[in-house]
This record gives sequence, C-alpha cells and structure tokens, in this order.
Amino acid sequence: MMRALAVMGGTFDPIHYGHLLAADQVRYNLKCDKVLFVPAFKSLYKIDVEMTSAEHRFEMTRLAVSTNEFFEVCDLEIKRGGISYTVDTLEDMRKLYPHCKLYFIVGVDAALGITGWKNWERILEICSIVAVDRPGYSIEDLWQDYKMIKYKKKIIFMKALHMPISSSYIREKVKKGEPIKYMLPESVEEYIKKHKLYL
Ligand code: ATP
Ligand code: MG
Repeated sequence: MMRALAVMGGTFDPIHYGHLLAADQVRYNLKCDKVLFVPAFKSLYKIDVEMTSAEHRFEMTRLAVSTNEFFEVCDLEIKRGGISYTVDTLEDMRKLYPHCKLYFIVGVDAALGITGWKNWERILEICSIVAVDRPGYSIEDLWQDYKMIKYKKKIIFMKALHMPISSSYIREKVKKGEPIKYMLPESVEEYIKKHKLYL
C-alpha cells in the first residue's frame, strides 16, 4: 500500500542531477514510497520557447530514473496534451491514490510563482508543496505575498544539498560544444548525443 507519494513536474529538457538529487532527498526525508516524474507536454511559462519533443523528454526522463527503484516516470501530462496544468495532474493523482499523502516537489524559484498557477488554492488542498533550495532564490520572499500566509503549513521548505544546475545551462553548453559530463546521467548524455539534441 502506498502511503506517501511525491510528484515532480517540469519540462525536463533535459532532466539533470539537480532534479534527481532534490527528488531523492525529498523522498528520503519525507518517507515517500515513490517519486513520480511528470514531464509537461507544454508549459504555460515556456509557450513561446522552442521545446524538445515530448517523446524525447519522456525518454530522457525514463532513462534517468531507471537506476532508482523509488523513481518512476509518468506520461499523464503528455497523454493529456495541451498546456499542462499542475492542478489537473494532482486531481488525477488524488483519484488514483485516494488515501495517499501527496507532495508536489518544486524548486524555490518555481514555488515563488505559486499564486499565479491555475487553481493554486485547490492545489494546496490536494497536496503539500515541497520547495527545495535553489541557489539565488529565497523562500522568505513567498511570505511577502499576503495571500500565502494562511497556507504556511502546506509549504514545506527543504533545506537540502543543492546543485546549481539548470536545463537551460546544459542546453547552452551543448550548443557551444562544451562538456556536460557529471551534470546529468551518462545515459541521458548519450541520448542527447545520439539524437543530436540542443545543437
Ligand atoms: P530550465 O532551465 O529550462 O527552466 P530547469 O533546470 O529549471 O530548466 P525545469 O524542468 O524547468 O528545469 O524544472 C522542473 C522543476 O525542477 C522546477 O520546480 C524547478 O524549480 C526544479 N529544479 C530545476 N533545477 C533544479 C535544481 N538544480 N535544484 C533544485 N530544483 C531544481
Ligand atoms: Mg526552470
């Protein structure tokens, strides 16, 4: 029986060790049975940005999580299509796992935008948000927004070991022909090379 499930959304273009390290620390610290990585089909925030196909991003995520028995990739948002809204995904998770404690993992950078997410108050009814440390952002800024104060208990700040890696940094490196080794799993690095992504 699953008791606690953590969900991590993102574009994962590509997935990297920053995502994986954050997720595994959340899993361990909050005693989650599983972490589900859900690649977005289309992000509202990256609507004008060119994105790698969902198939490639799903496959890279699948490769990256395959070496952790607690990790799984989920194609719910890709199958749904259109703009991927976190609230829709969490509603689905709630139905699939009605008695399970749900956590949604985000970096602090993403957490700071929470009141702009579709149906964000509903999201906070369904799950607790776990905001993991990300260099350059402070969770304290979240409490500047008066709308957030009553939800303080639903936001868990996780001060964990963090890596200053981002997918955009990796994409830039590939474009410049610079190494990306040790920033992401070798299987993902090979996949990027094989399919000539980010050139
Ligand atoms: P991009 O540079 O393209 O925005 P990204 O590295 O931020 O990519 P996303 O797919 O946008 O990756 O992020 C998915 C989630 O992972 C977000 O909640 C983001 O805050 C979080 N995240 C990304 N990188 C890190 C990291 N190094 N440490 C902790 N959380 C991270
Ligand atoms: Mg990002």
